[in-house]
Amino acid sequence: MDTVKYTLSESQMPTAWYNISADLPSPIPPVLNPGTGQPISPDDLAPLFPEELIKQEVSRDRFIEIPEEVHSIYCQWRPTPLYRARRLEKALDTPAKIYYKYEGVSPTGSHKPNTSVPQAYYNQKEGVKRLITETGAGQWGSSLAFAGALFGLDVEVYMVKISYEQKPYRRAMMETFGARVIASPSERTDAGRKILQENPDNLGSLGIAIGEAVEVAAQNEDAKYALGSVLNHVLLHQTIIGQEALTQLEQAGDYPDILVGCTGGGSNFAGIAFPFMGAKVRGEKSSIKFIAVEPAACPSLTKGKYTYDFGDSAHLTPLVKMHTLGNSFVPEGIHSGGLRYHGMAPLLSHLLELGLIEARAEKQLDCFAAGTTFARTEGILPAPEANHAVKGAIDEALRCKEEGVSKTILFNLCGHGHFDMQAYMDYQAGLLRDTEYSAAEVAMALAGLPVVG
Ligand SMILES: *Cc1c(COP(=O)(O)O)cnc(C)c1O
Repeated sequence: MDTVKYTLSESQMPTAWYNISADLPSPIPPVLNPGTGQPISPDDLAPLFPEELIKQEVSRDRFIEIPEEVHSIYCQWRPTPLYRARRLEKALDTPAKIYYKYEGVSPTGSHKPNTSVPQAYYNQKEGVKRLITETGAGQWGSSLAFAGALFGLDVEVYMVKISYEQKPYRRAMMETFGARVIASPSERTDAGRKILQENPDNLGSLGIAIGEAVEVAAQNEDAKYALGSVLNHVLLHQTIIGQEALTQLEQAGDYPDILVGCTGGGSNFAGIAFPFMGAKVRGEKSSIKFIAVEPAACPSLTKGKYTYDFGDSAHLTPLVKMHTLGNSFVPEGIHSGGLRYHGMAPLLSHLLELGLIEARAEKQLDCFAAGTTFARTEGILPAPEANHAVKGAIDEALRCKEEGVSKTILFNLCGHGHFDMQAYMDYQAGLLRDTEYSAAEVAMALAGLPVVG
């Protein structure tokens, strides 16, 4: 029988996260204090994050040990399976070998608990009582709510208003886990009140919700802020995905030529890619091609500017150098809620600048078509975000067919789409539209960027 599933035992699960900062050809540009234009110190971040996470944010150690408590919680769903997509290969009639790592087996159905659990752990250990965060479609909010429940933390989630109204199921999930969910913009914060004064009907954005969450966390002694993507420590926690995949492919006697992932803030892509990228930049393996796939409606890597910007619309965060569409840019309401962020992880932005990864923007309808092909062959219904990775992998497999070469493709299936059935219903009913990003709006948002000397 041809093997389709590669599993690892708990004892084969990695005991440390991989930190790519140890192996970068050049370091990422420093994070700046917007007031002084000078690099921030770890102390500047102390109101927002626990000490251990700040240490991880700036660490140059190649491996950072996974705490015992976190490791044993990971064991509830990790190691996650690696599949060979044999039926998809057959349907595409491609000589390529397609593997996918499946993160949808976590309690909340995506890769996000890989970081929500350690974040809750370090906060609780340092005496924090409340975690404040934002969420778009609800994937991150439900993952942090889950982790908060495990560690007895109070979790408060600012949820982008349009999703709060249109996506009640993830909100119900957060509330079941014991979290408090607030529609953003809200009357609870200066940032929210200011926006509502200008426009009471504002439906919110991730940039606005981040501003509200940061404000609340900074003003409350017992509270800290938690972010589900973008930051170095979040990408670090996700590297367990790629490290497991390395071992599983070893089992399969294979190694990828092409690695594909979708990018919102960059964490799941980094999670699967960085352990392989490390081998490449250390000169151990060289041939692999890394492809990041983003939505055409929010194309930060392919159309954004590599420059210093705020992480939020209220300008409360430090300045980070990243590919950005401008912190005031609000992307069209596409169904891949998890990919609608104006910026991109500084580490991924840096790697794109160095030419170590390539980026593509794909339209929503093409991604749903790819996801439907995947569901009909592999039997797993991907999250709309994950459909971008599926689309990238299928395109590469079809290119192999055209060129008559057998390459090995690995992609990250970062989550299932069981809470996104409205999107699939709309797609099937022909109601989904392709929305291009608005070049004029991006130009306007970029014109408002901070000037750094
Ligand atoms: C949040 C989310 C994303 C986007 O975030 P990244 O940090 O880019 O990974 C992608 N897919 C799913 C399923 C998500 O929940």
